[in-house]
Amino acid sequence: MSTIDVTFTNQQLEILDRFLTAKDGGDYAPLVRRALDAAEPGEQGVPKDRPAPAAPPTRPVVAEHLIAPGTGKAIEVAKGQIIRIEQVEGGQCGDLNIFARRNRHERIHVGRTRAMEADNSPTTGDLIWSNAPWERPLATVLANTARTDTLFPYCSALLYSKYFDTHAHTNCQQIQTEAQREYGLAPYDVHESFNLFMYVSVDADGGRSIDRNESHPGDYIEFHALDDIVAVPNVCGDDLGKSSNYFLRHLKAVVLDALPQDQERTEQALAAGRADAVLQQPYDLPDAPLVHDDSYVPSFPYLPLTFTTVAVEVSNAQAEALDGVWNRELYPGDAGAALRDVMLTWVTKQLGDW
Ligand SMILES: [Zn+2]
Repeated sequence: MSTIDVTFTNQQLEILDRFLTAKDGGDYAPLVRRALDAAEPGEQGVPKDRPAPAAPPTRPVVAEHLIAPGTGKAIEVAKGQIIRIEQVEGGQCGDLNIFARRNRHERIHVGRTRAMEADNSPTTGDLIWSNAPWERPLATVLANTARTDTLFPYCSALLYSKYFDTHAHTNCQQIQTEAQREYGLAPYDVHESFNLFMYVSVDADGGRSIDRNESHPGDYIEFHALDDIVAVPNVCGDDLGKSSNYFLRHLKAVVLDALPQDQERTEQALAAGRADAVLQQPYDLPDAPLVHDDSYVPSFPYLPLTFTTVAVEVSNAQAEALDGVWNRELYPGDAGAALRDVMLTWVTKQLGDW
């Protein structure tokens, strides 16, 4: 026998409660063991042994924000500066909105970006395009060591209601709304998300599925601002799906001054994207600048999140079964995280994949 500590969020326990039986006596450990007995070898995927990401170049730091689970942050990035969003613990998906400071109605257009860059997963060297009538690159992607996604919309209360029958759950739409409020933006200003650190596959018939998150600690994506922008990254609120490996973790955002080689790479990206040929503003629109609300005090819904650690005693045979499932690239040295994945994978099988 051995004991494995498994930590769940209060939101996860709310779902697990539905599967407890009278015999369990309010203890989640027997339920986790039942899930482990039903686990299928390899269901967490095979480690790809991707090497650790190379560290980004050293640049002067302008500002740094640690973004906690359940929250997001609106961050000013001046024209020519860089915003880097990076993993702290690894495995965390994030949503990103970007607005032009000069006109609150101009923001990135995910569909246009997907089409212009001919890629569901824009990456290093790609341009991030804004909506009409501007239709210009607001930023370039200077570097990306993980994956992005432009196929799935933000998670919202709708999804948790529909698939889990739970109506008070952290979700990107509401987190974005609260973060954007710092610049006076309204709930309807949340635009389709540019998904960071999100692993999506498309099958031969065009069917999309969300895979487990393969990002490592230190993975990052860097955007070079082509105009003054407000970037709003948030920690995805989904702890019931594979996009963040069934948990909520911190992300870090850093604003940096650019180096000469950054400007060179951006100019190459703009030339490759023929941005000069399309960079125009055909309408004479009045400015509608984004202004910081100095009275803003963040009040994100569904917080505080609480975390409960359950001690799960497993037999030698069960420990061996966990060995056959445990993806050590996703959960290096963390049997508890692997066992949490087993538990939530089982829940998904009961409720139907979403
Ligand atoms: Zn989300």
